[in-house]
Amino acid sequence: MSDGLGSEGNPLKVLIVGSGPSGFYAADALLKADTTVEVDILDRLPTPFGLVRAGVAPDHAKIKSATKAYDKISDNPNVSFLGNVTFGRDVSLAEIQATHHAVIFTCGAESDRRLGIPGEDLAGSHTATEFVYWYNGHPDYRDHVFDLSQEVAVIIGQGNVAADVCRILAKTVDELKNTDIAEHALDALSQSKIRDIHMIGRRGPAQAKFTHAELKEFGELADCDPVIDPAILDLNAASQAELEDKTNRSAIKNIETLTAFSQRPAGSKSRRLHFRFLEGPTELKGGEHLAAVTLMKNRLEGEAFNQWAEETGETVDLPCGLLFRSIGYRGVPVPDIPFDDKKGVFPNKEGRITNDGSVLPGVYCAGWIKRGPSGIIGTNRPDSVETVGSLLADLSGLDASQKPGGAGLRTLLEGKGVRVVSYEDWQKIDAAEIAKGEAKGKPREKFTRINDMLAALS
Ligand code: NAP
Repeated sequence: MSDGLGSEGNPLKVLIVGSGPSGFYAADALLKADTTVEVDILDRLPTPFGLVRAGVAPDHAKIKSATKAYDKISDNPNVSFLGNVTFGRDVSLAEIQATHHAVIFTCGAESDRRLGIPGEDLAGSHTATEFVYWYNGHPDYRDHVFDLSQEVAVIIGQGNVAADVCRILAKTVDELKNTDIAEHALDALSQSKIRDIHMIGRRGPAQAKFTHAELKEFGELADCDPVIDPAILDLNAASQAELEDKTNRSAIKNIETLTAFSQRPAGSKSRRLHFRFLEGPTELKGGEHLAAVTLMKNRLEGEAFNQWAEETGETVDLPCGLLFRSIGYRGVPVPDIPFDDKKGVFPNKEGRITNDGSVLPGVYCAGWIKRGPSGIIGTNRPDSVETVGSLLADLSGLDASQKPGGAGLRTLLEGKGVRVVSYEDWQKIDAAEIAKGEAKGKPREKFTRINDMLAALS
């Protein structure tokens, strides 16, 4: 039997750091390769699935069914999960390089871009990520407090994350109570006094990033009316040209739906979602607590599909006590791995992590930490396939010595007192969450503290 790397005598042992979609798609691509592989997937939480668990909105259950495919990948005997292990704290790059031939970072974009304006950190101003992780029961955000006694909430940005945040603020308890929303969030939202939600876009309605499926939902809410000034739908020539392009389907349908919203008779529901365009925040005002956001009126400049927001100099103050910045996620650095601070990603060439342009042998990345925070869950599959393609193309140049792989890493971690959570352990946590939810008519009631997750295993 040959002992070449990737042979039965010397399987290629790959560690994937991050168990979100791109991590599982990377594992899948490795398993499908014409090489004998063993894949270990590491996660700092005891629970897998990254943003599918902690990011996808609780009322979008269908999107979460992606995890069925990840369960199947985990069924493969050559895949193992090591949860509750933090890269850089519990294990270093050098230790991984001693146990595995290659490592793929799929750790996503865990932070947010900043606006860079005065008052950004006033009490009452939050990132969308904090709110999303909070209502999804992420242990790190379990104890965050949002002042829902305010009547006006402002969301800066018009992507799908902003749409999720607006919808969760706009929905009634009845609309949320049968979802997997965390119990603490449902309790807090049931006391919400929010009446007016303003979703602010710096560019025009034809440039909004939310997709049509998300927009349409705002017309179907039980106790919230969509509000839009018809005058803002009077588009400039370049925007009209954008809509003449039939491939620009989401924007075309968005304009149809926004137009229909603008023609509705004044509603009488107790909440209102205001779609506002051509406004950008320049300052958050207040003493200790946020009291208002100053919005600069913009106009569009540039050619179709390349239009930017140009400030007009005219400003308006919008009083508000709660504000969410939802202007895009951003990756965070980890020890021993180069970081491109400008782009918020790991510098890489087709998934090969680079340092000052030179490739770090055996160190790869995929997903949002590779390309930035764009696309839907499925976008990560080809991205991970590309990275695995790079890894396989590099095989002959990797250190081909026998490595202890997942078993060796587990022994190392247990020697350090780390309670490694296996996939079988996760399935027990999963079953306990589903059982807790059943009594309340929810798909699951999540554990929101790591100790509670681990206690479910004892
Ligand atoms: P996004 O789609 O990139 O949207 C970011 C928004 O922030 C845009 O409206 C952008 O406006 C605005 N923005 C950026 N910088 C700004 C600034 N300095 N001032 C004011 N506004 C600013 O990001 P996202 O909403 O975080 O979503 C990330 C990815 O996840 C997207 O691909 C999204 O589709 C996906 N996602 C999908 C779903 C779903 O499928 N249901 C749910 C959630 C997220 P400009 O256009 O002018 O830059």
